Amino acid sequence: MKLPNLNEIKNRLVPAKQEPVQQAQKKKKKKKRTSPYLDYMEHPKGKEKSSFIKKKKRGPAIPDDNWVKCKKCMNLVYKKDITEFKICPNCGNHFRMTPAERIKITCDPGSFEEWDAGLSTADPMGYPDYDEVIKTAQEKSGIREAVVTGKCTIDGNPTAIAIMDSHFMMGSMGSVVGEKITRAFERATNAELPIIVFTVSGGARMQEGIISLMQMAKVSEAVARHDDAGLLYITVITDPTTGGVTASFAMLGDIIIAEPKALIGFAGQRVIKATINQDLPQGFQRSEFQLEHGFVDRIIKRENLKTELAIILELHKKQG
Ligand SMILES: [Zn+2]
Repeated sequence: MKLPNLNEIKNRLVPAKQEPVQQAQKKKKKKKRTSPYLDYMEHPKGKEKSSFIKKKKRGPAIPDDNWVKCKKCMNLVYKKDITEFKICPNCGNHFRMTPAERIKITCDPGSFEEWDAGLSTADPMGYPDYDEVIKTAQEKSGIREAVVTGKCTIDGNPTAIAIMDSHFMMGSMGSVVGEKITRAFERATNAELPIIVFTVSGGARMQEGIISLMQMAKVSEAVARHDDAGLLYITVITDPTTGGVTASFAMLGDIIIAEPKALIGFAGQRVIKATINQDLPQGFQRSEFQLEHGFVDRIIKRENLKTELAIILELHKKQG
């Protein structure tokens, strides 16, 4: 009997259909994920946003740079008709403001002195393209992070102030936002100053993972020390204030003021609706609804805000 040679044995051991099986596995792995959430996570810059976050186009088209469209009434508004308070002349909608615009209508002229302007975020999680996202946000907003802090006077009353900016990654709270607000509270505590925080935020910044969630506890701790020193903390909630910011310092103010019709909540309405499987009441999560349910102390129109803040600061002035 003739014995098979070594090569013949090897050929018998290797299954003939091995290659096609491997290719099939590869094809299976390459199968596209269909979740719109995962699609969005893979394209955070919005290059290939899935259909579920595309907004419906409504109202007339914007003819040129002299016009803006109010997202509430959908009317075109001539830019020159908008005053420094940035309120829609048709429906009274409060447009979002930049920190510079907010300082102009809140602080006494020339009194604002900025703190920690140079702080800029690192990329603690190695999130893809995060540095690019930050760079774009810095160019778009003209500031280095989503909050501006400092001190100023309001009708002669000295106060610390922190103003979040929705134009910078939707005011999301990352490590630098948390750090700047914490330092503002610490400085205010040391200098025995009251503090006013203008909030606007989509919540914690997902690109910084757990580090962003830790800011909730860090800021809350600084707020508590400021409170222990017997100092006043006023929150001014502007549209929209959601997620981790609502769940921490936005709701810790001694006095909580909100601008009219601002969205104030933790989870989004769609998530809540899907969880409880019920229709939500009219005006749910808006300032007026939150005032009725005890989350907000007072709703103040933007044009009256400076005067009312000055009165509150004056009333709570420490007697020397
Ligand atoms: Zn309007």
